[in-house]
Amino acid sequence: MIMDGPTNDRSLEVDIQTELFLQLAEIVSTTTRTGPALALACERLATILDCTRVSIFLLKNGQVIPRMSRFANGVIAPGQWDEFRTSSAANNPPAVVSEVLVRGVPVVCSTYENDWWSQHFDIASMMAVPIGNSSHPLGVLVADSQVPYEFRPEQIRLATALGVQLGGIVALARQIEEQHTRLGFAEASRELYQKGSLSTTTLGVAETLARVTAKVLGGPIAWSITVNTTGSITQVTSFGVPRDTQEKVRVALEGKPFASTALGGIVGPVWTPLQIDEEISTDAFGLFGVRSGWCIPISCLQENLVALVIVGGPSAGDFAEARHRDLVNFLAQETSLIAENAILREHDHYQATHDSLTSLANRAAFEDYLAYALAIAARTSGRLAVLLLDLNRFKDVNDTLGHHIGDALLNEVAQRLTSEMRDADVVARLGGDEFVILLSTSADINGAKNAAKRLVTALEQPLLVAHRPIWIGASIGIACFPEHGADPQTLLHRADLAMYEAKRTTVGVVVYDASVDRAQSSVPGLLLELPRAIQQDELVVHYQPKLDINSHEVLGVEALVRWVHPTLGLLGPEQFVPLAEATGIIRQLTSWVLTTALGQAAVWRASGRALRMSVNISARDLADVTLPDRVTAALVSSGVPADQLTLELTESAIMSDEAKGTEVLTRLRQLGVRISLDDFGTGYSSLAYLERLPLDEVKIDRSFLGGGNGAESFLVRSMVKMGHHLGLQIVVEGIEHWTSYESVARIDCDELQGFALSPPLEAAQLEQWLDDWTSNLPSGSSHPWRQAE
Ligand code: C2E
Ligand code: CA
Ligand code: CA
Repeated sequence: MIMDGPTNDRSLEVDIQTELFLQLAEIVSTTTRTGPALALACERLATILDCTRVSIFLLKNGQVIPRMSRFANGVIAPGQWDEFRTSSAANNPPAVVSEVLVRGVPVVCSTYENDWWSQHFDIASMMAVPIGNSSHPLGVLVADSQVPYEFRPEQIRLATALGVQLGGIVALARQIEEQHTRLGFAEASRELYQKGSLSTTTLGVAETLARVTAKVLGGPIAWSITVNTTGSITQVTSFGVPRDTQEKVRVALEGKPFASTALGGIVGPVWTPLQIDEEISTDAFGLFGVRSGWCIPISCLQENLVALVIVGGPSAGDFAEARHRDLVNFLAQETSLIAENAILREHDHYQATHDSLTSLANRAAFEDYLAYALAIAARTSGRLAVLLLDLNRFKDVNDTLGHHIGDALLNEVAQRLTSEMRDADVVARLGGDEFVILLSTSADINGAKNAAKRLVTALEQPLLVAHRPIWIGASIGIACFPEHGADPQTLLHRADLAMYEAKRTTVGVVVYDASVDRAQSSVPGLLLELPRAIQQDELVVHYQPKLDINSHEVLGVEALVRWVHPTLGLLGPEQFVPLAEATGIIRQLTSWVLTTALGQAAVWRASGRALRMSVNISARDLADVTLPDRVTAALVSSGVPADQLTLELTESAIMSDEAKGTEVLTRLRQLGVRISLDDFGTGYSSLAYLERLPLDEVKIDRSFLGGGNGAESFLVRSMVKMGHHLGLQIVVEGIEHWTSYESVARIDCDELQGFALSPPLEAAQLEQWLDDWTSNLPSGSSHPWRQAE
């Protein structure tokens, strides 16, 4: 039987095409998935052609993949879709499809019979057209009919036109998908680093990985399992899973040797991500309810398994694409680094967070906890009080009764404090006879004062140490959030000031107020003012030019920070950078300098001065895993290319935690940023040591020049030579006077920096200086090589 197709005249054809194409383009631009657009195309075309169904086969990595199939008018044939997608078509697509791919022209087959396809899908007639450019089709669009059907020329034309349009859409969708995947990578790694690096336990890292992976893959189920050093499963947690299932799995697995479980038989001993498919999901992964997804082992130094993450969904074949594999491999790699850090931390965690004498939390742990509590209080408009307590006569006890009595007394005090406070309050020992208490509930100023008075009274009662009563007494200073500060350092510092006031005036308890501040010295004051100074742009950056020896041009500048203090005047970095380094404020300072310097570099670039920018980074920054992210953010917002930024670090900064320092350096370098070793020669490292570091440049410290120009000294020249041998760019800094051309030429380094050339200058002054330098060059006079030429 021959069926009637719709009778389209040309203009109708064009209208239909245009409208359909617009709809498709709209779908593609609003989602990142090709699926909906392809489905719409198939269904609409099947309807317009009045045939049974339209299907799409796409070429991917040299294979033909059945990608989409829809019946006309949205008719659904249960079962057929699964069959279509999971068929052996990749090896054996319909012959017509292959023909179209080879010849690049439409092929019509009025009688289609006797193959797997015709039998499985009841196909009687078929028309196939290329998708995309006919010389390199991206795939094939197939229309078929279950009853014999004669496709007419205008129908073939319409299908062919749609095939070309679809090609554009498939290409666009692939591009968007790729972009999305790349974005997914960036976002996932950021989240992984931010959350993962806060975890001090492998479970914490595993849970973070599970969440991040589930999010980027779009899988609804996620499990994390930890394994201890003897190979037993210690903890099983999950999300997206019903409670009873979780309980069942927990009971089945916890405490079992991992190797003895069905899972253990499949995963390892090479700890790489394993794709979960139909075959193994019914066996080892059946328990988890994951029919398709990934199992990601987390191992320590590639050897010992410490945790596993299972992420996926309940239906088959969902996470099997190449991009899923890439994403999982990427996340697995990132996680192993984070996990190694966490394991080290987990190991040292107790020691690092507890005072060995009293077993109370120590200063570091307290500061961490305070920061955390402050973040929550700030979000919930909550209140906090920090009570800093110092014993009154401890030194006398220690001196007259001996250290062991002193130690026993501190233990007694710790116990008394703990028993006086509520469970929710945190008691820590800061060191010596100093304790600190965080009140986190009902902690308004009066409440805090009452609690402090109670403590002072309690400590006025004699303490029994070695059967001997000791009267000790205590002074307490109080600082409250939000009244007296919003960050741990400020609160602790102000509580400390208040405590000294309490001691000085022997009143027992003092609440911080501004008068306490004035009573004390101004140096800590500078520290307290610094965050405000950064926010209110009281800091400025000066730029010192660096001279390229070969071209006699200034190719780069170093950013050096200064503080224009409202009352103290211009302060040099030595007066406040060390303060900032001793606290977390250095992070803000560094970010501010980075942003400001790169912003200036962008302005200069826009006006035709392409100057490289060098920025100083402190040791504290290097210990911070978010540094690469912060650098990226500053680069992106300024638009300055990464290779125009040089980060200067001292060797002590790198040495203070070599493994971590090298890791962060490597990541920075992967961004394309240059790394310079500052103040070289002042530390202990030999030049051979430099070979192991990812460096681009070395700056020889000015102390080698002995104040004047000793740059041609044997020592400097041999350092330059060895540096060059290692492929490093060498900068000699601190050149204060020009002597002769010969002496400068003999240095043989790459760049010079120093007062002889120019001191650090404000941006506008530097521009003036640069103009002078360039215009003076041809006729120049005062510079040694000019005299020699
Ligand atoms: P640095 O990185 O070694 O910077 C070079 C210092 O030497 C600068 O001092 C510069 O003014 C000074 N200098 C330049 N040429 C000469 C010279 O010919 N003779 C002598 N005697 N000195 C010269 P400045 O600006 O006072 O900075 C001191 C240090 O403060 C810097 O030493 C750097 O370690 C630190 N610093 C400056 N800005 C920043 C910053 O933004 N972040 C961090 N973390 N540290 C910074
Ligand atoms: Ca420097
Ligand atoms: Ca230096």
